[in-house]
Amino acid sequence: MDIRNIIRNVPDFPIKGIQFKDITTLLKDKEAFRYCVDQITQHCKGLNIDYIAGIEARGFIIGAPVAYSLDVGFIPIRKGGRLPYKVEKITYQLEYGESIVEIHQDAFQKGNRIMVVDDLLATGGTTLAVFQLIERLGGVVVGADFIIELEMLQGREKLKNYPVFSLVKYKI
Ligand code: AMP
Repeated sequence: MDIRNIIRNVPDFPIKGIQFKDITTLLKDKEAFRYCVDQITQHCKGLNIDYIAGIEARGFIIGAPVAYSLDVGFIPIRKGGRLPYKVEKITYQLEYGESIVEIHQDAFQKGNRIMVVDDLLATGGTTLAVFQLIERLGGVVVGADFIIELEMLQGREKLKNYPVFSLVKYKI
């Protein structure tokens, strides 16, 4: 299935110069949504994964059904100040601005194998921060799976020590 045509490009959102990839047009298409969840689930099979970690907020939409399909637990990675219990946190640079990601300190056991899921790989800063959180807590990062990869931002290079998988790649 060619999902490229279903992803909406919104120029200059949220700031001038950003080509925002809007996946709401994909999510409302039941075949396209199922295709994305199934493809990522398929990629995770056989990797001995204990948990899917989804990055707020669009990583929840994709990651939770993948976890359900794989019959593993789901771990929410949230922006700063939103998780209620004890957290591990990291501040990092975004394609636009700066952000914080947090995980509950008791999200998983040491040695658990975790796949990170998000909608889009841009600079890779968010995903690298999440990898660091997982490793600080003694988890094993299996890799990261995305629907969309913006190749020109070289996120794959930033994550070069880890397996990265994406369904569609944009060159510009
Ligand atoms: P990065 O840390 O640069 O890889 O940015 C990844 C995060 O920012 C993901 O959670 C994306 O949802 C969001 N993001 C960054 N750039 C874009 C973009 N051009 N279109 C849509 N989402 C984006």
